Amino acid sequence: MKKRFILGLIAIVLAGCKNDVKPIHSKSSSEKQNEFAIVIHGGAGTILKENMTPEKEAAYQATLEEAIRVGYEILKHGGSSIEAVQKTINVMEDSPLFNAGKGAVFTNAGTNEHDASIMDGKTLNAGASAGTKTVKNPIDLARAIMDNSPHVMLSGSGAEAFAEEQGLNLVKPEYFYTESKFKSLQKIKNTTHVLLEYNPKKAFYDSTIKDSKFGTVGCVALDKNGNLAAGTSTGGMTNKRWGRIGDAPVIGAGTYANNNTCAVSSTGWGEFFIRAVVAHDISALMEYKGLSLAEAAKEVIQNKIPKLGGDGGIIAVDKNGNMVMEFNTAGMFRATMNDKGDLIIGMYND
Ligand code: ASP
Repeated sequence: MKKRFILGLIAIVLAGCKNDVKPIHSKSSSEKQNEFAIVIHGGAGTILKENMTPEKEAAYQATLEEAIRVGYEILKHGGSSIEAVQKTINVMEDSPLFNAGKGAVFTNAGTNEHDASIMDGKTLNAGASAGTKTVKNPIDLARAIMDNSPHVMLSGSGAEAFAEEQGLNLVKPEYFYTESKFKSLQKIKNTTHVLLEYNPKKAFYDSTIKDSKFGTVGCVALDKNGNLAAGTSTGGMTNKRWGRIGDAPVIGAGTYANNNTCAVSSTGWGEFFIRAVVAHDISALMEYKGLSLAEAAKEVIQNKIPKLGGDGGIIAVDKNGNMVMEFNTAGMFRATMNDKGDLIIGMYND
């Protein structure tokens, strides 16, 4: 009797495991869900209700809504997903709340160094910039690199010279100063100093991860012509050194779009997102293994990334207008709008 019970239990567990690895093709995910759709994130990390004031919460909510409505209006009036992604990200880059553009975090040297990328799912064209210090809206630079240069990725002073040639908005580095981000740097530096005596490599990352809220911004969109686009913009990680570049400007890691599958923008611990090639991996799981977007995103964010030791999340939309926001952190600033204009905003892990 007991033996049969145990065998039964094993059979149930095995059946459960099988379901985990086998793609489930839900009918709904392969049918057109939305004629157009847009999803944004404002970074994943330790975003807890108990650490938020009502004013802060309202400010985040208002900026997320303002940003996504800009993209929504473009899509509603037949504009391209690329345009929607760029203009939506511009709003978040101009806000001091997020770690992109105006609100970028500080490097170990006390500078602000921006990374950004954008990708067009129709042509697989892409543009990316890394380590710029004077470009007001790095996503505009990524777009200009994609449209007007023979290259995909430009960095540092060369990228800034190209931005100037393109007539983009350049600012003095002081424009990017925000008190809260500067204080975060001081706090991390103090902690790191103590931990450095123990283990230099680990200390740098541990203290950085624990004490800095992320706040990278990203946007993915599907337009009425069935074209997908994705973009990501960030100041990277507080206290970064040695010209560190994260995943945000790395096509396939921080950003990816392909009309055959989906558009993805990542946020989280960039080193792991580069190693796991997160954004392209989600697309590849759909293209080569037949997984739905939700299944592919779950596999990469809840299984692959934590196994490596990283954390973070993604937003994505597929060619049928299915929207996904997957994260393994305590929260992620996020919002979606479907073709009916329904708006959903989220911050915490609920
Ligand atoms: N992924 C970004 C980086 O590593 C950080 C973030 O998303 O907050 O640069």
